[in-house]
Amino acid sequence: MELDDLYRDVILDHYRNPRHRGSLPSADVHSEGQNPTCGDEFALDLAVEDGIIVAAGTEGRGCSISQASGSMMTEAIIGKTVNEARDIMHRFKVMMGIEAGTSPIDPERPGAELGDLEALQGVRRFPVRIKCADLPWTTLEDALAQWGDD
Ligand code: ZN
Repeated sequence: MELDDLYRDVILDHYRNPRHRGSLPSADVHSEGQNPTCGDEFALDLAVEDGIIVAAGTEGRGCSISQASGSMMTEAIIGKTVNEARDIMHRFKVMMGIEAGTSPIDPERPGAELGDLEALQGVRRFPVRIKCADLPWTTLEDALAQWGDD
């Protein structure tokens, strides 16, 4: 797999130094997911206060794409409301071609900036790896569904 150097460096940095690693004793929701195609595993804990995701903790193993995506995801959603996290999730899935939509990066809307996650857009050229990048987000989707509307 050949990614642009800049993107590859960002992905490898998150893979080697994953942010918010470890389970959360204070978690309000817990979710786990697997990507059997690649052997990736990912688990997510979220702590939510007044509708805001105040902390996230992850555990997992697998390829650099899956684990880096999870690390970037935690940075993108901490401090956001549950609805903003859903919006970021949708934008990510649009960027990756997983969900239909337009203009995944819209500076006019809060939470629009995907930051390091944009490094993963190159993965879109490798369809078999899209599931790797999507695994943490599928896990997030499940976690937010557990939380419900808020
Ligand atoms: Zn993978």
